Parts: sequence; C-alpha cells; structure tokens
Amino acid sequence: MANRPSPLEALNARIVACERCPRLRAYCAELARVRRRAYADWEYWSRPVPSFGDEQARVMILGLAPGAHGSNRTGRIFTGDGSGDFLYPVLHETGFASLPKAVSRDDGMKLTGLWIGAVVRCAPPANKPTLEELRNCSAWLDEEMALLPNLRVVVCLGRIAFDGLLAWARRTGQLPARTGLGFAHGAEFTLPGGLKVIASYHPSLQNTNTGKLTRAMFLKVFKRARELAGLG
Ligand code: SF4
Repeated sequence: MANRPSPLEALNARIVACERCPRLRAYCAELARVRRRAYADWEYWSRPVPSFGDEQARVMILGLAPGAHGSNRTGRIFTGDGSGDFLYPVLHETGFASLPKAVSRDDGMKLTGLWIGAVVRCAPPANKPTLEELRNCSAWLDEEMALLPNLRVVVCLGRIAFDGLLAWARRTGQLPARTGLGFAHGAEFTLPGGLKVIASYHPSLQNTNTGKLTRAMFLKVFKRARELAGLG
C-alpha cells in the first residue's frame, strides 16, 4: 500500500494545481510552448513550483519566484539557472545540501535542516509579480509556515521576499502594521515568537555578476543561519 503523503507533500500537491493568477498561468503556458533554444528538448514544468527540502528543517530560505527557464523549466526551486548555480554550492559548503549543483528534479539532491520556498510560485514576467499575485500566493505561505514546527530561522532572499515575510508576521499577529524594519543585506531581527529573520541580497545574476552579492557574503549568511538555528 502506498504511503500517505505528509501534510507538506499534500500542500505541495495543492500548490502545483493552483490557478489563482491567470496572468502568471498564461505566461508559464507560453514559456512551455516557446522554450529557450538551449532547452528545446526539455518538457517545461510550467506549473506552480512546489517548495523543497527537509520537513524537519530549522532553517528556511524564502525566495522570490521561479525563474522562467530555471525552476519553471525543471520543476524544482532554484534548479537549473544562474541563481541556483550560485546558491547550491554555498548550501553544499555549509552542510545544507548534499550536492553542489542542482540540475533537475531527479538529480538526487537532498537538503538537511533546510526548507526552500518562495513568496510567488509561478514565474512572473520580468520577475515582477503584481501586488494581487503576491497576495494570492501568500495564502500558501501561511499554510506552509504552520506545517514547519522546527523552524528557527528564515533567510529572505531580496526585498520582495523580506516584505513577504513581514506581511506573514503581521497576518499572524507577530508584528504591528508599522514596524520600521527595512531591508538591508545581513540585517537580522527576532520575531516575538522567537523566529529569527536574516535578510540577504537575492542571488540573481544581476547581483552576482556585478559583485553586489559575492560568494563570501553569501557564505556568511548561511553560516550565520546555522549558528542562529543551533546547528553548529
Ligand atoms: S503564483 Fe501562487 S497563487 Fe498565483 S497561480 Fe501561482 S501558485 Fe497560485
């Protein structure tokens, strides 16, 4: 008899079937139809991309959204594009990821102590979701956070993810409407419930190719996350 899916697996299955944002669903369908020449022989995933990782995680990465030809193509978050190529070596070096490179959903990658999600689960045109799309997808984040009982640290990649986490904290009554908390790379704060938050620049090519985010800066973020999570 097949094992019953865990609550997080069941949630991911519902996310993958989500159709709340017509603009994003249409854009993903178009990406699957046209494809980038280099990936002409790929069958693009082009559905909402589920979260990925260790269900007992103490650390969560909150990203922005799937890359059009990265996770929208492969179906696994941060897999198959420049952002993932910058992220996974750092996760491997800091003991969170079993492999230094993420290629596809079946490459054997395992995460330990880490869960990776995003504030928007469908690739948006120009990486810019609308406010309505962010609001639509925030309901999934609410359910997901409630199913991660061991979480101690959230690393927010970029300002939009950081604002998404603050909005979640307000919805769950952990922060007042106005907090004065602003995004800055390396900034940390602790929510009243004890969850620690670290802000980091997003590992987009725009940030990594220009040196705004270096490997050393990113390593420091994940070493700090381990420390705050009590992972040594
Ligand atoms: S972005 Fe989120 S809410 Fe919108 S269709 Fe995709 S999964 Fe659903």
